[in-house]
Amino acid sequence: MSVSVILAPNPSLLTGPGTNTYLVGDGGEVACIDPGPDEPEHLRAIEDAARAMRARITTVLLTHSHPDHRPLARRLAEAVSAPLHALDPGDDGAAPLRDGDVVEAGGVALRAVHTPGHASDHLCFFDAQSRELFTGDHVLSGMTTVISPPDGDMSDYMDSLRRVLSLRPAVIHPGHGRTIEDGVAAVEEYIAHRLEREAQVAEAVRRRGGAVAPIDVVPEIYAAYPQALHAFAARSVQAHLDKLVRDGRAALVEPGDPPRYAVH
Ligand SMILES: [Zn+2]
Repeated sequence: MSVSVILAPNPSLLTGPGTNTYLVGDGGEVACIDPGPDEPEHLRAIEDAARAMRARITTVLLTHSHPDHRPLARRLAEAVSAPLHALDPGDDGAAPLRDGDVVEAGGVALRAVHTPGHASDHLCFFDAQSRELFTGDHVLSGMTTVISPPDGDMSDYMDSLRRVLSLRPAVIHPGHGRTIEDGVAAVEEYIAHRLEREAQVAEAVRRRGGAVAPIDVVPEIYAAYPQALHAFAARSVQAHLDKLVRDGRAALVEPGDPPRYAVH
């Protein structure tokens, strides 16, 4: 299997160095995973990369619909006359893909694995032969996945991490950041990190007592994060608290914006 990565020109706090667009396949045919932002220079870069691989893009796949992954999909699919596939059909003509569906590119079979959590429509793509996994924003490298309710869901996210762990991935190709060479260890670390955060959130809310808004505990839990990320961190704290409520370990005492929680 050949894999080529094209970095999109959209670096930011949330996208790190930018979105990774992948070309994956064999025998002169490749699938493009996550075309990225709708930028003419990125479209050209993707077509150049396919040419360098001496391959034709025969299918376009989306891990999820966020604006740093999907907007170029329709234009690329039209430029190379290839079908477009996503879990959410959206409004760009994608054919719906379901969990377990297999898409072939040359000799490579990529299996769609539904992994809700970061986004409800999130898919990873797994090549069982090489055990390489394309994770979109489900597992990242060098940064943390934001879980923003209501479309983001921490209970789903933890279940989806355990699901990709069960695939025993050898190599992970993330939606942002560098290739991860020990996939299993990386996912195990992700799970451990989230459980540690969950415990920190529960403890911080319990210590404050009363009705606590997610943002109230961000400065102490995310002390190492730049201030500019605190609003996003509050989304993840809320996602942790919603999970704790579901698990019977916290109470939602005031619904609303922001919601307020208590842990006893
Ligand atoms: Zn992304």
